Amino acid sequence: MANLKTSCEVCNLELPSRKLSLHHIVPDALCRQLGMDSNRPANYLTLCRREHGLTEVPEGKLERGDVLGFLMDMRRLGFQMDRIEAALKAYKLLTEVGV
Ligand SMILES: [Zn+2]
Repeated sequence: MANLKTSCEVCNLELPSRKLSLHHIVPDALCRQLGMDSNRPANYLTLCRREHGLTEVPEGKLERGDVLGFLMDMRRLGFQMDRIEAALKAYKLLTEVGV
């Protein structure tokens, strides 16, 4: 289990811990479907409530297998794509492709 940081990793706002939450990049339900443990360090981000709420739509896409749609949404929302891609790779939802 990763530790909660003192600021949101997307908007960088410093907030009291009760206003921050540990977010699973790859949702817990999807990890379970894949037979994998969601509690991998690469799968955690500390988010404020705003960003946490904004992940719902892209997560739905990921759960339907729309990895590209998920990535595009997360990029548009300002998430650090290296972190997002590392989490997807940890669950084998993204592999290195020559693009
Ligand atoms: Zn934030």
